[in-house]
Amino acid sequence: MDNSEYERRIAARFATFDQDRNGYIDREDFSRAAKAVLAAFGTAARSARGQALYSGAEAFWQGMAGIADRDGDQRITREEFVTGAVKRLRDNPERFGEIARPFLHAALAVAGADSDGGVTVGDVTRLLAALDLPDHVAAEVATALDTDRDGRVGEADIVPAFARYFTVPE
Ligand code: CA
Ligand code: CA
Repeated sequence: MDNSEYERRIAARFATFDQDRNGYIDREDFSRAAKAVLAAFGTAARSARGQALYSGAEAFWQGMAGIADRDGDQRITREEFVTGAVKRLRDNPERFGEIARPFLHAALAVAGADSDGGVTVGDVTRLLAALDLPDHVAAEVATALDTDRDGRVGEADIVPAFARYFTVPE
């Protein structure tokens, strides 16, 4: 991969986290993501699933800040993201899985709440679209996550997939 391709991918990952597009990643982006997921599935913030999602979002933010917010101003700039998060997560993808897992676990619980026996590809498509992925990309990613083609996506698929996506190879 040449340098400009690498830069483009980093920019896309940063944009995914910077949900309100104000140029830095902070706690607000994570609570906004939680709120968008709850709205997409009609789940109340005060419900057990809603509370779990907000706790997961806070843990995800704390984990990311611990890795990347070098000056401790509670914001992750693009530069901090590139020099901190991307490099450290690439060296240690399991760490990304750990910090993202409570959020992803809670998001899957919200997304799968109304379907029997697991989270469908359609649920995951709606989940990713709620996180602002374009609809066709969301559908493509959700389909790819269903590796055994049984129409369902499990936590065991989604956590490593997220880790792979965010630990951009150089
Ligand atoms: Ca932001
Ligand atoms: Ca900072």
